[in-house]
Amino acid sequence: MSEAPLPEAPEKIRCDACPVMCYIAPGQTGACDRYANEAGRITRTDPVILLSHALEGGARIVPFAVRDWDGAPVPADSFVTGIGSGTTYPDYKPAPFIVSSRIDGADMVTVVTEAIFSYCGVKVKIDTDRFLGHEGAKVRVQGEVIGHVCTAEYGSQMLSLGGVHHLTGGSKAEGRITCDALLRLCNGEAVEMVVDHGSSVIVQAGQPPIVDGVPERRMRVGCGSATIGMFAVQWQGLVDEVVVVDDHITGVVSEHQAGKVLGWPPTGIRIKGHRSTPGRYFKVSEPGLGWGGTKLTDPLEILGEWNPKKGARPGLTLLMVSTTGEEFAYYVLDEALQPQRRDLPDALRTSVELIDENCEASLCTVLFMGGAGGSLRAGVTRNPVRLTRSVQGRVTRLTSGGAECYVWPGGGITFMVDVTRLPKGAFGYVPTPALVAPLEFTLARADYIAMGGHEDSIRTVDQTLAEGGEYPTAASVQPWPRR
Ligand code: SF4
Repeated sequence: MSEAPLPEAPEKIRCDACPVMCYIAPGQTGACDRYANEAGRITRTDPVILLSHALEGGARIVPFAVRDWDGAPVPADSFVTGIGSGTTYPDYKPAPFIVSSRIDGADMVTVVTEAIFSYCGVKVKIDTDRFLGHEGAKVRVQGEVIGHVCTAEYGSQMLSLGGVHHLTGGSKAEGRITCDALLRLCNGEAVEMVVDHGSSVIVQAGQPPIVDGVPERRMRVGCGSATIGMFAVQWQGLVDEVVVVDDHITGVVSEHQAGKVLGWPPTGIRIKGHRSTPGRYFKVSEPGLGWGGTKLTDPLEILGEWNPKKGARPGLTLLMVSTTGEEFAYYVLDEALQPQRRDLPDALRTSVELIDENCEASLCTVLFMGGAGGSLRAGVTRNPVRLTRSVQGRVTRLTSGGAECYVWPGGGITFMVDVTRLPKGAFGYVPTPALVAPLEFTLARADYIAMGGHEDSIRTVDQTLAEGGEYPTAASVQPWPRR
């Protein structure tokens, strides 16, 4: 009896959209879930996204590839984004979509791609005075270091996360967890991180930070000195002394220039801290989660002996308040010149509420930062440095998923973009590990051709709809099972 022939095995085909080079079985997706083997062709799994002001809500997301297109007319102002467009690794090929259009009567070209960024990271701004960690402290996710605490700015703490050293320079786990954290941050998800010798913080773009389990509510109105400057006139005549407690600069109204200008009398107060200029004190405490970003839970700890020769007297009134107005206390000096806590008078409550009212909502801001000055330029032009010069000279406009980018001066095309300005889910990843971000380069058609652009690949939106936009792979076939 002869053996029955084995059923023909389905063929895997190779995706060459990134260095991982997955072999993908029919109906399956590759390691990044961005590409699939669809009936023997490698296709991008997400639709390309068009933005248009003519569509309801100012912008609408529509599928682009022929297989998804419903045949509806494309509005004249449609802008093809890089989201879902696919990439061109190893970059000698023209970018997936090079689309011509007329903008304000001018012939323009937009070159659209999804760029793979091994060199990328995020800059995070967290609106809080709470102590997250010392400058330079390591920031960890699931125990792996993904970045560090950067500078403290005005009412905010900066974090610098990702970068090539964490993505590819450490252990596999470090690279994988860094890539995953960056991806989630860029796609608007919440990521919990822990700072060495500091706090835990949950960061989500456009949302309040949660520090050690407590959602932050208010960004401070200013430093203690600035708060004195803004509100001294509101306190005049209502209280004898005001101290605005702040981790950076604590202000004292009777000594501050704002008080002097108003003729505020001295009170004999003494602050334990480094006096900078009159009425401005540094380092009244250690940083922490207490009053004004200090570790204080009792503000009286920063006061020394009251001096009767310089104005201290029984009955003198004192308001102590933090820079957000969230913490406040009112005191009256007794016969021994010791502050005794009393209820806050209604007249002063209004001024404390005014501080609170002037504080802005505390948010996390996430800026993606990447370097687009490398090999992907070859997908735009045969002479890559001309693209760099054109972007730097503002002849070419760079956007990411339709969002405006800030391009750093100097060498390369190093840009930053606010992730909340891109449609949700615009970022992807490949397991090298690296992030994938959409990019669009828009310039006049004449300038594009002059820079050595891929003229033969220019298509109108309508042409692209008619011809489809699937990934043009050579689809090298691997026999199954692999030998
Ligand atoms: S990981 Fe790379 S090779 Fe694999 S499917 Fe994704 S883009 Fe293609």
